[in-house]
Amino acid sequence: MALLRITKYGEKVLHRKSKPVEDLSGDIQKLIKDMYETMYAANGIGLAAPQVGLPLRLAVINVTPENRKNQFVIINPKIVERHGRIDSEEGCLSLPGAGGVRIKRTGKVTVEAMNEKGMPFVIKGEGLLARCLQHEIDHLDGTMIINRAPLKQKLKMRWAVHKLKKEGLW
Ligand code: ZN
Repeated sequence: MALLRITKYGEKVLHRKSKPVEDLSGDIQKLIKDMYETMYAANGIGLAAPQVGLPLRLAVINVTPENRKNQFVIINPKIVERHGRIDSEEGCLSLPGAGGVRIKRTGKVTVEAMNEKGMPFVIKGEGLLARCLQHEIDHLDGTMIINRAPLKQKLKMRWAVHKLKKEGLW
């Protein structure tokens, strides 16, 4: 297993729509394992393929990282039902230094996806899981929290973006 480099805001792969995963070869299986490792090492609860530089519709999630049994991968996910609203703080591994950003999202979602074996499954999430599912699926569409943040929050994040620019990442 290997730790992968996490892409940062401004890198093209994070700002475009990713392509569906069409085969689940050994390369993809290795990628999934490496993405779990990278997510845990970065203390994240979700990581999408564009965050490791690959424009693929795939993300790993575990909102209870202390229990590795709860980890799962969503391949070619689709939100098929939405209910309610939540408004809470969210961070992103690809926007280090930006801290939590208050974002309005759907409170409960139902997602259809495929697992690493190619089996379709349905996951219903609320609260933190609902937020995480929406955050990761957003990444697959090239949308980041800064795109969803209200203007005041966007201004708060400006310095973090400025810092990434200075580091020459975009
Ligand atoms: Zn993110």
